[in-house]
This record gives sequence, C-alpha cells and structure tokens, in this order.
Amino acid sequence: MKYLLLFAFIGVVWWLWSKRNAPDASDSSARPAPPVEKMVTCVHCGVHLPESEAVSVAGRIYCCEAHRIAAKSAED
Ligand SMILES: [Zn+2]
Repeated sequence: MKYLLLFAFIGVVWWLWSKRNAPDASDSSARPAPPVEKMVTCVHCGVHLPESEAVSVAGRIYCCEAHRIAAKSAED
C-alpha cells in the first residue's frame, strides 16, 4: 500500500512536469506579431486602408488611382 501511494505521487509529479514542458500552441511569443500599420482614409469615398496601399497626392490620400482621378476631375 505504501508503494501504491509512492507510485501515485510520482505519477502526479510526472504529469505536472510533462504538462509544464509541453509546447503551448496559444503562446503568442512563439510567433512574431504582425507589424502595426498606420490606417488612412480616402478623401473621396472615406474607406479606411493601410498607408502602404494608399495613393497620396499633394497631402491628399486616396484608396486607389481611380478615386484620385475622380476627385481631381471633380475639382476641375
Ligand atoms: Zn476611395
């Protein structure tokens, strides 16, 4: 009976040890976080988009070339 308790204790210790060392899939530090990019708004249609995808002309930001042309022709 004494050995049964000893084996049970070893079993619990081993289980806790293996659980602690198991790779955790939810660990966010394992994979790099996506870079945070500045969001801008198209002055023509008001859509939000990343700054790298925006068309910027003379301080005005557009979501695409078509809206840049449309806004320009509206001014003329
Ligand atoms: Zn737009």
